[in-house]
Amino acid sequence: MRIIIFGPQGAGKGTQAGKLVEETGAAHIATGDLVREEIKKGSELGEKIQEYNDKGELVPDEIIIEMTKPHLDKHDGWILDGFPRNQAQAKALDEALEEIDEKVDRVIALEASDEDLVKRLSGRRQSEATGKTYHIEHDPPPEDSDEDAGPFVQRDDDTEEAIRKRLETYHEETEPLKDYYEEQGILVTVDASQGIDEVTKEVMKAVGEDK
Ligand code: ADP
Ligand code: ADP
Repeated sequence: MRIIIFGPQGAGKGTQAGKLVEETGAAHIATGDLVREEIKKGSELGEKIQEYNDKGELVPDEIIIEMTKPHLDKHDGWILDGFPRNQAQAKALDEALEEIDEKVDRVIALEASDEDLVKRLSGRRQSEATGKTYHIEHDPPPEDSDEDAGPFVQRDDDTEEAIRKRLETYHEETEPLKDYYEEQGILVTVDASQGIDEVTKEVMKAVGEDK
């Protein structure tokens, strides 16, 4: 299946994508991870996109589309996380999929209030060893280093100021895409203010993996 996991910063896209990967064996394509990997490499492209990332601004469409496209064709099934974020990207995705005779099967939109999201993101920690995301209260990092050695660090762009800016951009440019996918009849919305396991149950139902 080709699934878009959609929603604002902190809604739990990465967390639920991880569960879907475990359940379906699909690949997790997270454009934010692609951006951070490129920055870490210190490439010319990485230097160019770092400014946007650090300021909480979107990387220009043509750059992010070129970075994402090769991954769509690499796997039979995927969970796309963090893309598309505006009309131009949604169109580019449709065109890229048409070229390989594929389409998006389902868009799962996670929904929660901005206040909940800001609170949630301040407790987010990411493992430098595995890239996996945890929460200091709701999903604590393992103490056993065989499972994930860490260290578990806060993202530079998870400051309250940068989070609010990213949420503003989400509401203006990204959220309207829900109508686009609703019209295609492939949108499922999920209340993401529930606990992680409750959200997972609804997500699995949305992709027919709730047996
Ligand atoms: P968040 O969703 O919290 O903003 P991500 O990890 O998804 O974080 O993305 C980190 C950064 O990578 C974004 O702030 C943005 O600069 C860039 N980025 C990721 N995906 C896209 C995209 N589809 N379009 C433009 N920029 C993107
Ligand atoms: P996104 O990828 O949408 O930005 P993440 O999956 O990184 O969101 O989740 C943001 C933070 O909130 C992480 O620290 C994660 O562990 C935590 N989290 C995710 N889902 C829930 C939930 N349903 N309830 C409480 N905390 C959650």
